Amino acid sequence: MNEIPVRVRFAPSPTGPLHIGGVRTALYNYLFARKYHGTFIIRIEDTDQNRLVSGAEDYLFESLAWCGIISDEGPGTGGEYGPYRQSERKEIYREYADRLIANGHAYYAFDTVEELDAMRERLKASESSTQQYDCNSRMAMKNSLTLAAEEVQTRITRGDPYVIRTKVPENETVIFNDLVRGEMVVEANQLDDKVLFKSDGWPTYHLANVVDDYLMKITHVIRGEEWLPSAPLHVLLYKFFGWESIMPQFTHVPLLLRPDGNGKLSKRDGDRLGFPVFPVNWSDPLSGEKSTGFRERGFFPQPLINFLALLGWHPAGDKEVMTMEDMISEFSIEHVHKAGARFDFEKAKWFNHEYLIKMSGSRLAAMFFPVLQEKNISASEEFVARVCDVLKHRCSFLSDFWESGSFFFRQPDSFDEVIVKSKWNEKVKRNFEMLISELNSLSDFTGASVDQFLHRFLGQNNLKAGELFPVLRVALIGTKNGPSVFEIISLLGRDEVIKRIRSSQPIFDKMISML
Ligand code: GLU
Repeated sequence: MNEIPVRVRFAPSPTGPLHIGGVRTALYNYLFARKYHGTFIIRIEDTDQNRLVSGAEDYLFESLAWCGIISDEGPGTGGEYGPYRQSERKEIYREYADRLIANGHAYYAFDTVEELDAMRERLKASESSTQQYDCNSRMAMKNSLTLAAEEVQTRITRGDPYVIRTKVPENETVIFNDLVRGEMVVEANQLDDKVLFKSDGWPTYHLANVVDDYLMKITHVIRGEEWLPSAPLHVLLYKFFGWESIMPQFTHVPLLLRPDGNGKLSKRDGDRLGFPVFPVNWSDPLSGEKSTGFRERGFFPQPLINFLALLGWHPAGDKEVMTMEDMISEFSIEHVHKAGARFDFEKAKWFNHEYLIKMSGSRLAAMFFPVLQEKNISASEEFVARVCDVLKHRCSFLSDFWESGSFFFRQPDSFDEVIVKSKWNEKVKRNFEMLISELNSLSDFTGASVDQFLHRFLGQNNLKAGELFPVLRVALIGTKNGPSVFEIISLLGRDEVIKRIRSSQPIFDKMISML
């Protein structure tokens, strides 16, 4: 690493809700900045005013804050190189476009939409390999390269609409280094003369992005792979401006792919396969369509970030569960992959589960209490914490707790018929009676003691575990699934266990009589 302080930026365009792919790009920038004690900047790229979506910028900040990705400089945060919203920097860009015109690297173009369409048709008809505005087609168009200087002046003075286009050099090879992909070699003849400045007075993404990266002293550009095709133009712009020696290092991070690996992950895939693709809830301001976020789906931000970091990056060891601090210390661009990373929702849930099981029962209880309150259930803090400690091992989300463990708070009102019909008989019924009387004299209700007690009970009464436990479990919680019978008994305690066994008997008898 050179001695120049690291400065990286996440530069989203508020043209829609931040996608988790964007969160991952922001995260990589953040991890890189923290690792090298550098500066992480957020810059809002809102020069395409027609595509702005209301609420998208607020959404972005809310999402990043929830994820714990906090900027050192940016809108709201401030900093020496602001403003950090391109719409507030509008005045800056024109001068740079003019500079390129003055040194022959850009030109005015007056072509109308119809003329541009006609150009494409012409090129298509002549079976040209591309139909773009470039070194082969530009001399047949209406621009300051083909029109006389006076006419250009007249048109500008008259207020004719025009754009400023890059004059991509002919027969030049653009070479740059990408920290993930290595040396990239592109023939400039394949590039089109991209618009740098639009007729509405706004710069395009390309000009504003390069100028701002320069002015904000960005040392590393870490962005999604979809921007790789733009990089050669950006490299040319650095050269045209004479900023080559301080050009940032480029890193294009792999795309997030659909679970089947076929194509880029989109919102539609999430809808189709039932998982979120946005960090927090989003409501589309135009259509009113609502999308559930990872937050509302029940994810904690830490495991989500952990999961996202590993989509496209692999730390040196095999460690998967990491804190933000672990990720910061282990992050390295060398270990970012070239290949796209498949999105695997089951894996995301696994990370959430791993995080959940590390949380204490009492912390989880504090979060679970509102759910209980909503259901008018009162229980002691200690009891809820013990229940949470058991349930966390069986759930991916806190929001699964009620469904997985409502029986700890109220007696079941339905019972697994298959188990009752196959296991309930006179012998078991007699044993239920004996069990009640023995439970009455059992003093220690900890899990281990209940475990020992039940096994002793089986032995004494010549019962197999399979004869008693399934039906006992159904008597206590209604279903054959759930925590172990020892844990259930230990948690429910003597009185409740006896009450449930007692009240299940007539129900089971009735179920059998209906056979
Ligand atoms: N504004 C671009 C975007 O929306 C930024 C690309 C870049 O980081 O250069 O992703």
